[in-house]
Amino acid sequence: MSGFLNSRYRSLCPYVPGEQPKDRRYLKLNTNESPFPPGPEVQAALSRAAFADLRLYEDPDNAGLKAALAQRFGALGLSADCFCPTAGSDEALDLCFMAFAEEGIQFPDVSYGFYAVLSALHRLDARVTPVREDLRIDLSDYRRNDRCIVLANPNAPTGLILGEAEIRSLLSRNPDHVVIVDEAYIDFGGQSALPLIREYANLVVCQTFSKSRSLAGARIGFAAGAPALIQDLERLRNSRNPYNISALSQLAGEAALREPEYYAENCRRIIKSREWTVRELRRLGFTAADSFGNFVFARSGQIGGRDLALALRERGILVRHFPAERIRDYNRITIGTQAEMEQLIETLAQIL
Ligand SMILES: *Cc1c(COP(=O)(O)O)cnc(C)c1O
Repeated sequence: MSGFLNSRYRSLCPYVPGEQPKDRRYLKLNTNESPFPPGPEVQAALSRAAFADLRLYEDPDNAGLKAALAQRFGALGLSADCFCPTAGSDEALDLCFMAFAEEGIQFPDVSYGFYAVLSALHRLDARVTPVREDLRIDLSDYRRNDRCIVLANPNAPTGLILGEAEIRSLLSRNPDHVVIVDEAYIDFGGQSALPLIREYANLVVCQTFSKSRSLAGARIGFAAGAPALIQDLERLRNSRNPYNISALSQLAGEAALREPEYYAENCRRIIKSREWTVRELRRLGFTAADSFGNFVFARSGQIGGRDLALALRERGILVRHFPAERIRDYNRITIGTQAEMEQLIETLAQIL
């Protein structure tokens, strides 16, 4: 650290992303990327993209993406002004924390690590609420209506979900604060809260193109909510980074929204391999709850989480281990192709 860094940032603990190694080829089951490439529409859109146009700034209103989102989710009664496209959903979360959490923010202790990082960055009063012994969120802990709430649904890294009735109760018990539902993994089996936007003035739903839509490297996400909330987010976005989504990423995102069936089919394949993987893990003596994400969260009775991650790494497979006390016996394993999962299970059998 230099002596020049502003004092308010000296105690930040930045987010530690999963490894993107360069030293050799690994089977990457550590960052919940899709094992499948983006769809043919995306490929066509990028190859049509005019090279010379890169000298120009792209549309700072992200109008094409907003229109494509309205088209995709129009059946839910959501128009273009219900969407704020962002550079990954991490940017959507950042804008929400900045916009809506001055009275504080609440989230579970076992959840997406970025919530704590953003809370510290924006100097928010964070109430970090322990999940139950079985790692489930206890909604009775979220009834005080005294601050913004953020929940990942399905939760990461546990893969556990809340149903529509539970999301509704959260929204109606906290009418004076925004409830952010982070749906990074919703396409792998949960029920989206997007249809509730027309009913609740305090709901923001964040989604990403990084997981189910195979575009992690393009950095595309969005926040969705009532138009008044979206105007607030746009006000901040335009005060910070009006050209937030690159021209090429806008094209890729719009194209992906035109081919939902391609991604839905990939999700069905991943869900099928996930169910197979959970059965095989249990057969090997692992404890793993049913997951609704593109990953499973599993604990072996025979080997610690960190040791297992290291043993797999030596054999060319990366999984994600979190050192936090409550979950350090676990590993989060991304679901890849069926062949990749068979390789994982074979390797685990050898290690054990
Ligand atoms: C991956 C992830 C995100 C954000 O990913 P982006 O690539 O920034 O869109 C947000 N929330 C959760 C829970 C995630 O796992």
